[in-house]
Amino acid sequence: MIPPRRSRTIRIRDLAVGGEAPIAVQSMAATPTRDIEATVRQVELLEAAGADLVRIAVDSEADVEALAIVRGRTRALLSVDLQENYRLAATVAPLVDKIRYNPGHLHHHEKSKPVREKVAMIVGAAREHGLALRIGVNAGSVAPEYKDRFGAEGVEAIVRSALDHCAMVDELGFTDYVVSIKDSDPRLVVDANVAFAEARPDVPLHLGVTEAGMPPDGVIKTRIAFEQLLSRGIGDTLRVSLTVPFDDKGQEIEVGRAILADVEAGRFRSVPPNFFDGLNIIACPSCSRVENTRFIDLAQEVKEVTAYAEDHDFTIAVMGCRVNGPGETDDADLGLWCGPNHVNLKRGEESVGTYTYDEILPKLREELDRLIAKS
Ligand code: SF4
Repeated sequence: MIPPRRSRTIRIRDLAVGGEAPIAVQSMAATPTRDIEATVRQVELLEAAGADLVRIAVDSEADVEALAIVRGRTRALLSVDLQENYRLAATVAPLVDKIRYNPGHLHHHEKSKPVREKVAMIVGAAREHGLALRIGVNAGSVAPEYKDRFGAEGVEAIVRSALDHCAMVDELGFTDYVVSIKDSDPRLVVDANVAFAEARPDVPLHLGVTEAGMPPDGVIKTRIAFEQLLSRGIGDTLRVSLTVPFDDKGQEIEVGRAILADVEAGRFRSVPPNFFDGLNIIACPSCSRVENTRFIDLAQEVKEVTAYAEDHDFTIAVMGCRVNGPGETDDADLGLWCGPNHVNLKRGEESVGTYTYDEILPKLREELDRLIAKS
């Protein structure tokens, strides 16, 4: 039931992705990279669950040093997530098999340097070490100039950003790359990936619904997008993002493989009636940047304490860190992003205040009650 794909085949060390290659399933370590024992265990857990590739985030030289030790203890295919610190590409390249950069994060450092030069530096590091690349566009962190030109709503900004970065990488004569275009809304993920695949059918696509949240809703959102895309021959690799404790991260691989098997066998699940109506909780899947592991429990508690508002069309976003948390809560009616000891509460783009983990839930309820009273 999965039609032939039109993408070219690239190689991530000995893993073929795209074209006629099996669709790869991957995940990301949720442990702090500097906690070497926990990160090695996380990589082993994901491998044992059947991951073809494991992504690890690095933010600092200390993370790179830790990653070097992790690399020495596993044969797993490793991808590195550069996030804002694109300059780490050169030091991390000898340690991994693939680099992911986010076009929306390149403006944070060396603001006066043209984006093209930054992309050329990343591509140079990948080429020198025989690595693949992922151009990973995320709707929650789209580059400001694309938001200004194409607006924050809809898919144009994220699709244009991905296409322009493909053109830059093409100009550098580099072809071993995949693209991902993610959003927390599965309908936008479908529209964006269909639009991109029409424009660039040759480029392998990595699928994902970011911040899908906790099971079962997170699984349903992901399934909605993956069923529609895979059954059109779109998608060469995928990741299911679920907000679950890091010992349960194998679930992401199991769910990904189950969705693939179902689509291959023509088994499609119907979307529960009114699934997109009412309260929408989005939560990040957590990664090495989570500074307080209470984040996972907090996400679950937010769901429980706000259940009374389930008929209201509000979005509440719960994010695990200060890197992506502030930006990726902007579009939510209420947003929470977690620091080491405090949680920041927002109403749209406006800050409401900073509260301890014990104070935050009553504050959230107060804000939610205010929104309901105004609606
Ligand atoms: S919001 Fe932060 S902690 Fe959550 S997945 Fe994104 S980078 Fe990781």
